[in-house]
Amino acid sequence: MSNKTKTTDTQFRQASAEYNFGFLDEYAKKEVRRSVLKAIAIPGYQVPYSSREMPMGRGFGTGGLQLTLSLIGKQDTLKVIDQGSDDSVNAVNLRSFIEMICPGIDTTTQVSEANLIQSRHRIPEEPLREDQVLILQVPYPDALVVVEPSEDKRKIMHGEADYSRLLVKLYEDIVKFNEITISHRYPTRINGHYVIDSSPIPRWDVPKMHQSKALILLGAGREKKIYAVPPYTLAEPLEFDDVPFRVENFNDEHGQRRLCHRCGCDHSFLDEFIDSKRAYKRYQCSDSDYCDEQLTFKTSASNQNLEG
Ligand SMILES: [Zn+2]
Repeated sequence: MSNKTKTTDTQFRQASAEYNFGFLDEYAKKEVRRSVLKAIAIPGYQVPYSSREMPMGRGFGTGGLQLTLSLIGKQDTLKVIDQGSDDSVNAVNLRSFIEMICPGIDTTTQVSEANLIQSRHRIPEEPLREDQVLILQVPYPDALVVVEPSEDKRKIMHGEADYSRLLVKLYEDIVKFNEITISHRYPTRINGHYVIDSSPIPRWDVPKMHQSKALILLGAGREKKIYAVPPYTLAEPLEFDDVPFRVENFNDEHGQRRLCHRCGCDHSFLDEFIDSKRAYKRYQCSDSDYCDEQLTFKTSASNQNLEG
């Protein structure tokens, strides 16, 4: 079953009467695409670009949006995700804006159908393919900002691959809390040199960047930076020999892996919900499309069993 939708004629007429396809003018798109090429050529390097004003506030995904609008064409199918869901306010509004301004494109909620995926806070659970591009919205592009306020100095440190102060910061965490406490935006070394801010994805998603089949582009609109993790590239979260990187643990107090209460999945990133009436915690897949798919699979398997 397909979840694709086409933009309507009314939307087409409204948009085409006033705006260029993709809202940005062609020169702006060209500049973004050039920056993307440079970002791919130097994996992990933050390429500056002249981020344009968008009809939404900085911090709501203008960097990701400008990447999407510069790359999308009428033959493309787009999926927009916010915190793993296609139905949250940010995702719905971005998707309807792009549909309105890019007449003729397809949109979908299914990862397998999309060739462009714009996301905030999550990388889909389903492994991505070579023909797909993942665009991540980034608030703070520079992993060094926590240890060095001057951008000039940070640029020198990046150039020299000098991440000693960042490593000291991680070490201090271990001394104080017995583990590295960074839950998202985990500093990750790309292709053995530049350390990037991996955007506010959970640690769970960081290993998906390593040797990813899909091109991953990261765009920060307010900070005017684009960077990339090209396909089949090393992406290594910072760690120590004796304190390895680890992802979130979803085991309960008895050491049992918690299951998604909706689809029963035992291997996805889970969101925690509080059932206020019964005062207990429920866990559900954060990736709503993946949860739906697991549920469909489970239902069809149980139907087959009944028929058999
Ligand atoms: Zn689920």
